Amino acid sequence: SIPLSFFGGIGGASKRGILVKGSNFLEALQQVKYVVFDKTGTLTKGTFTVTDVHTQTVSKDELVAYAAHAEAFSTHPIAGSIRAFYKEKIDGKQIANYQETAGYGTEAMIYGRSVLAGNEKWMEQHEIKCPSIETIGTLVYIAVDGKYAGHLVISDEIKPDAKAAINALKRLGVKKTIMLTGDAKRVAKQVGENVGVDQIYAELLPHQKVEQFEKVDEVKAKREKVIFVGDGINDTPVLARADVGIAMGGLGSDAAIEAADVVIMTDEPSKIAEAIHIAKKTKSIVW
Ligand code: ADP
Ligand code: MG
Repeated sequence: SIPLSFFGGIGGASKRGILVKGSNFLEALQQVKYVVFDKTGTLTKGTFTVTDVHTQTVSKDELVAYAAHAEAFSTHPIAGSIRAFYKEKIDGKQIANYQETAGYGTEAMIYGRSVLAGNEKWMEQHEIKCPSIETIGTLVYIAVDGKYAGHLVISDEIKPDAKAAINALKRLGVKKTIMLTGDAKRVAKQVGENVGVDQIYAELLPHQKVEQFEKVDEVKAKREKVIFVGDGINDTPVLARADVGIAMGGLGSDAAIEAADVVIMTDEPSKIAEAIHIAKKTKSIVW
């Protein structure tokens, strides 16, 4: 077997693709009792593909064209998948008054018509009636000139090691695992139950992610350490609040990587348990 000293400390962790930004975080990792996860890009791959298109008032090609133009300037992974699905070239001259609202979607004038692309809440906010749809996957509703025109179904994949990652944390003495997401309850439930987290909070706006985290954080009063794992720009406030903020370093945003205390270079959630394991071994060497 490998001698313990091989695993030890920040150097040992970095050999395994886990960058720890200070030995104080190793100490916090030893005591972790709660692990809070973001969903998209953390427990799931965050690489979306369009799997279905439904139309009501326009043709399929038109709907996809409106959607791709409405998502032309968004950095959200959902937007990237819609642009990739649109086989034609996006015509920037046909886009005016573009605006994006985090956690909801986009709005713009496309080919002279007013277009909205986003989730059910986004449509509700604009008082647009939409059919409720039973599907596996994230829904992007498209409205044209104030009316529901159709929707796209977009699917993400759970990371292959996500379930094992949760189990490993439980074996290391973590009391509770929690998932926070801006995505719909339906999708959140499907992912959360599949990977086996204890608690799921969905449809959270970026500021609500921090609020929900602070509620979990009450455990801090009892001196319990909390990890937050995320990947997005939206996640930086929560990464900063956690005892140990862990960012996915591969596909994660620069802001998240900067705000984090620990960076997982391989984007594998199973590295979190490994980090705790290394931290615990390090303690036994130092003492
Ligand atoms: P998360 O990373 O947890 O999914 P976000 O706040 O990034 O959270 O997004 C929450 C939800 O807001 C998405 O699942 C999607 O429904 C909607 N949304 C956000 N941005 C866009 C966009 N550009 N186009 C369509 N929908 C969007
Ligand atoms: Mg995310």
